[in-house]
Amino acid sequence: MYILVTNDDGIDSPALMPLKQALDQVAETVVFAPDRNWSAAGHPKTMHKPLRADLRKLPDGSQGFCSSGAPSDCVALAHLGVVERKLDLVVSGINMGANLGYDVFYSGTVAAAVEGVVNGIPAIAVSINSFEPTDYRGPANFAARLVQYVARHGLPADLFLNVNFPAVPWDDVKGVAITRLGRRVYRDELVSRLDPRERSYYWIGGEPLGGVPDIGTDIWAVANGYVSVTPVYLDMTAYHFREDLRRWDIQLS
Ligand code: MN
Repeated sequence: MYILVTNDDGIDSPALMPLKQALDQVAETVVFAPDRNWSAAGHPKTMHKPLRADLRKLPDGSQGFCSSGAPSDCVALAHLGVVERKLDLVVSGINMGANLGYDVFYSGTVAAAVEGVVNGIPAIAVSINSFEPTDYRGPANFAARLVQYVARHGLPADLFLNVNFPAVPWDDVKGVAITRLGRRVYRDELVSRLDPRERSYYWIGGEPLGGVPDIGTDIWAVANGYVSVTPVYLDMTAYHFREDLRRWDIQLS
């Protein structure tokens, strides 16, 4: 198996190499990561400017690709031929900060996994519920173990696995929970200030993220010390609402 390892925190993230080195134990890997942090940058497809992808010597002595593009661009560039070998799997992470519930719409970590799936490559997004550097060996080894399950069972088309780790020592992790996406609560607040020329500028600020910890959700699992594994399907059609919508009897004019 040949795995593309990427992330959205950038190639220098302390959480990237532990993941790569754990995956090296079960497969061949190539790192193809952004040159800077793209957290919460979503899913760009950069089409209006050139992209760079330069070889870079990684801390373990291997060669990886460092790109000026977004995480989704990294996967696209690799898939389209910058990496000259067929990719069997995309693993994105380990992200510093959980990607739970609606986070999947903002996350560059998840976007990289989605870009894999869109291109027919199975994918796993991996995040930990801490913004502080920590010991990533347990989570990284679990990711490698999960890759072996994927190799054995395969993954259906049009879905990826969204994995989130609780921020507890590995020995305190309670188990693995197969979950659904929960309901994130963003306590965003508008911070409005004036620049030296008396023109307004804004920050999106506010309290740390919350969430509704309904049992069975990813938010619940991580809050209760479980590794959350959510199969996320790219077909977001609200099948249950189609009949209601037909009854609106929407006319052309
Ligand atoms: Mn990030």
